[in-house]
Amino acid sequence: MKRPLFVSASTAAFVTALAFLSACHDPLPVPRIDKPTLDGWAQPYQGVQGLKVHAFRTGAVRGVEAAAFAGGSWTTRMAMGAWAFVIEHPTHGLIVFDTGLSDRARTEPEHFVGWLGTKLAVLDVPEHAALGEQMKAAGLDPGDVHLVVLSHLHFDHTGGIAAFPNAKVAVAAAEKNWAETGARRIDFVDTDSLVGMARWQTIDYAAEKPLATFVASHDFFGDGSVIGLDLAGHTPGNQGLLVRTPEAPILFTGDAAWTEKSWRWTARPISAYSMPLWWENIWRINKFAMLEPRLVVVPGHDDLAVASIGIASFIHHQPPGAGR
Ligand SMILES: [Zn+2]
Repeated sequence: MKRPLFVSASTAAFVTALAFLSACHDPLPVPRIDKPTLDGWAQPYQGVQGLKVHAFRTGAVRGVEAAAFAGGSWTTRMAMGAWAFVIEHPTHGLIVFDTGLSDRARTEPEHFVGWLGTKLAVLDVPEHAALGEQMKAAGLDPGDVHLVVLSHLHFDHTGGIAAFPNAKVAVAAAEKNWAETGARRIDFVDTDSLVGMARWQTIDYAAEKPLATFVASHDFFGDGSVIGLDLAGHTPGNQGLLVRTPEAPILFTGDAAWTEKSWRWTARPISAYSMPLWWENIWRINKFAMLEPRLVVVPGHDDLAVASIGIASFIHHQPPGAGR
């Protein structure tokens, strides 16, 4: 069936806007970070014995590189894995960082990205890939999770949240406020997935103290083992999570960095809620990695970065359908 003209025109306008965004990337000055030190970050590094991290891939967003990165290629296709992590803490139990894509993203992708979005990106969600289901298959009971930390409230990070009815859900106050009052449908917040979440823990990073190169940090248990970091920019309240495994500190960036090249080479996304904030925080990650050479950085959507982590306390789980 021939598509109506107005759809074609709007598609053309959208693609033109995307091409413009992708092509224009004015140089940004390297930000001045006043204190590029490890203030507050204990040296030498001491890990938490018995702490483990489980990595689950709940699906992927597939598209062309130019739709994600400024100046990216229009012919290079990339799959951005939607990751979720479960921290098995020896004294604080199971903690989840991000919950990935939902089953509904397979059956109703337009609900999440709109009709135009489905033409630009494919939501690739295998059956049985939902975080709760994969956890059960791995012998981890979602009912035992008492804390879920969400990097931010985009649908590809909140999709599995319903599996954790007993958990407190921790987000930055700026993120929750934006999702409730400022975000529109085009901002990729799936408010349906958040209905029924009664136990919120909102973290006001404006009132928290700095840590190392970061402007604000939140020590979840007061023992330095699991620390939230203000990494705003991608969204108003994107937060990272710094976890002390026995071998090395792991920094989960959420979508402050989509892939390794985001933080290592400061490759800019084509859009962000606040590009100046994104830019400043990507340098803070970069400087922290220079000062703490043991650091393992886990970007929000980098399959290769996750696959290359070779420390014993980081456990890789095979997603459903892998190796077929
Ligand atoms: Zn994401």
